Amino acid sequence: MGKRALLNVDYTYDFVAPDGKLTCGEPGQVIEDKIVSITEEFIEAGDYVVFAIDKHEADDGLHPETALFPPHNIAGTSGRDLYGKLAGVYAQNKDKANVYYYDKTRYSAFAGTDLEIKLRERGIEEVHIIGVCTDICVLHTAVDAYNKGFNIVVHQDAVASFNQAGHDWALTHFTNTLGAQVV
Ligand code: ZN
Repeated sequence: MGKRALLNVDYTYDFVAPDGKLTCGEPGQVIEDKIVSITEEFIEAGDYVVFAIDKHEADDGLHPETALFPPHNIAGTSGRDLYGKLAGVYAQNKDKANVYYYDKTRYSAFAGTDLEIKLRERGIEEVHIIGVCTDICVLHTAVDAYNKGFNIVVHQDAVASFNQAGHDWALTHFTNTLGAQVV
């Protein structure tokens, strides 16, 4: 088995908290402990752990999401903070060599970022994906990982969406179309 990495996608206040700007609501909140335990497991195992976190500018007329979604994860706001206990896990481990936090501006953790370079230089062949939303940022990250030839594992107890039908569809898509392991 090739080396593995954990991609922790968008588990922030705006996407998860009851009053988050673009919240998944309860489905996002109930996966908190699972998100935390998987993250801790990968960090302790010495695997590469990535936090790919949405970042937007206020009133960004050039960004396609501006027309599609309410403003969320705006730079400099607490909406971008990691949600719940994950914030503490990150704070405790952020200086470790195998932990990498970076900003992304599109759904996919690969779009316009150096994630692929970071994974390739570490010889990582398998990406494990957790976070939100299953059918948006997790999905687009998984599609890019597929196109780049990574093996994909999606942890179904650690992904969520505000759209239950979209969540269910995406889990099927991961398996049937991206060849992912859904565990
Ligand atoms: Zn966004």
